[in-house]
Amino acid sequence: MNDQRQRFLLETCDVRGQYISLDQTWLDACSRVDYPEPVAQVLGEAFVAAGLLASTIKFDGKLTLQVRGPGNIHLLVVQVSSDGNLRGLARWRNVPDDHSLTQLFGEDAQLRIAIEATQGAEPYQGIVALEGESLSDAIRRYFESSEQLKTHMQFAVTGTSACGVLLQALPSTNESSDDEDGFSRAVALAESFTKDELLEHNLERLLRLAFHQEEVRVFEAENVAFRCSCSRERIDRMLLGMGLKEVNDILDEQKRVEVTCEFCDETYWYDRVDADALFNATPGYETAPGESGATH
Ligand SMILES: [Zn+2]
Repeated sequence: MNDQRQRFLLETCDVRGQYISLDQTWLDACSRVDYPEPVAQVLGEAFVAAGLLASTIKFDGKLTLQVRGPGNIHLLVVQVSSDGNLRGLARWRNVPDDHSLTQLFGEDAQLRIAIEATQGAEPYQGIVALEGESLSDAIRRYFESSEQLKTHMQFAVTGTSACGVLLQALPSTNESSDDEDGFSRAVALAESFTKDELLEHNLERLLRLAFHQEEVRVFEAENVAFRCSCSRERIDRMLLGMGLKEVNDILDEQKRVEVTCEFCDETYWYDRVDADALFNATPGYETAPGESGATH
């Protein structure tokens, strides 16, 4: 098992890169839901894409990649925390024979990338129409239109592993440098990677294969994992945000409150004793913030 991401620089191309390999993370993501193959494919790509994107930006918080649309897959969401924890899911109705983006997500689907800092910085989000041949194509368009950053991604997803590579043009440091050519050259070389090569979990070999004529610097790998950020404390805050009356209404009707996290399937139970203890221990609960990470 090898769940890591690793940064590299193609110095002679003015391009920075990231490689990510998800094994156990990907198995964990798929273990809760029996995803049909085309849904699993695009969810795997979203895990890889979100993991790659999160490692290109410096932030302390979480990055969310989300696609919503009226189509067969109506929700695809992957969240990555800055310390390398990933969680994600897809919701679908039917699986079409045609696996194009439009068939999977429907016309007018939207791609949203959001960054929420743990503290300090304002939340940021960008939304674009989901367009293109594939998820990587849609993300490339997103970066071109909303970030003016040349970005290229390739994915390889199987039932047991999800891997991918990202290339991004460095902001030009020298007016006279032809970094535009450098980026195009790097993309052309990277496009020679086969899925099997991407799945080999060997970045140095991958880079040697394609970029042996370039100057390459490889940084130390970091571990990543499937880990959900839900907790009893977060659900406590959600119930406090709902307020005593609403919680009591549910207790009257159902004897207990049951909250299941959609990301990891963990279920949290509260009977009347739990609820009373929670509300009694919390002065001024009416103003407590809600929890958005879980739903009923
Ligand atoms: Zn959870």
